[in-house]
Amino acid sequence: MAINYTEDIQIEKSKTSKIANVDFNNLAFGRVFSDHMLVCDFKNGEWQNPSIVPYQPVTLEPSAKIFHYGQSIFEGMKAYKDSDNNVFLFRPVDNFNRLNISAKRLAMPELPEACFMNGLKELIKLEKDWIPTSEGSSLYIRPFMFATGQGFHASPANAYKFIIACAPSGSYFSGKVKVLIEEKYSRSANGGVGFAKAGGNYAGQFYPTQLANNRGYQQVIWTDDNTHEYIEEAGAMNIFVRINDTLLTVPTSDRILDGITRKSILTIAEAEGIDVEVRKIKVAELIEASENGSLKELFGAGTAAVVSPISGFGFKGKDYELPELENTYGALLKKRITDIQTNKSDDPYGWRV
Ligand code: PMP
Repeated sequence: MAINYTEDIQIEKSKTSKIANVDFNNLAFGRVFSDHMLVCDFKNGEWQNPSIVPYQPVTLEPSAKIFHYGQSIFEGMKAYKDSDNNVFLFRPVDNFNRLNISAKRLAMPELPEACFMNGLKELIKLEKDWIPTSEGSSLYIRPFMFATGQGFHASPANAYKFIIACAPSGSYFSGKVKVLIEEKYSRSANGGVGFAKAGGNYAGQFYPTQLANNRGYQQVIWTDDNTHEYIEEAGAMNIFVRINDTLLTVPTSDRILDGITRKSILTIAEAEGIDVEVRKIKVAELIEASENGSLKELFGAGTAAVVSPISGFGFKGKDYELPELENTYGALLKKRITDIQTNKSDDPYGWRV
């Protein structure tokens, strides 16, 4: 029998709420979790009915394949509230599509759209009071899927769990960040899984990022694995560069995540009349532009931080500073995108849901 995901979502409400313990004016990023979560299991070759249950631990066998072979993928998105308490999501179908792109690459089962979208909407309806409204804060939503099926045989699991959990969150970074251009380590490679939001991609970033942290840099600018001559991403964000009045970003590939913020920024920047170029960018070009004064801005773009301005970068033992500009593209684009997300402006692109 076909599963009707809208009608079949069972809801078990939590007996008590944790909400009174949360200081909504002093939220860190992703540290406290809301009362409920959506859960959906894949077994016997198909996705079962999703349900909403109190936020709680997950019990797994030691032989669950997530622990051994890392079949684990996730998404990151946000819910926003306007001044009339209307609730909005931003381009949620794009997150759904990307989850399934990741699932396919990790040999995991693709999720039906109705399970994701209806499950998400029902959950957010229930967790409405958990959406913070102070400037820069939102309800961060984490959909994720992992292998629960068992066995020490290195092959895909036969059972999976999909969960959506929520965390009322403040800003990801406070202030500008200093970054190190990576010359040795890589986050992804041609033919690899860089374009997927696979848990292992992030595990592999931690050690090189710790080394950079120890040298006083907050983030790593990833370069291509082959030559380390081209910049690719900024930590867990896509990268933007402004040289003179041109806004540049690098094309997506199988090494780079197709960021939803990145593509939204490209659309908005063009609508603002900004000269935009999507092309490969050499580290040498950044250095030269920094030295001749044409490098005006560098920023990361992603759901968590929206736009994260970079104050300077290190490369081959030398530090390069970005100028302090009054009217930055970064600030303008951040305002435009957050105004759409929080219903403070029109949404000519139909991104708000
Ligand atoms: N690159 C990587 C590696 C990321 O993890 C993220 C965050 N999802 C991004 C870019 C930005 O993507 P998005 O704008 O869709 O959040």
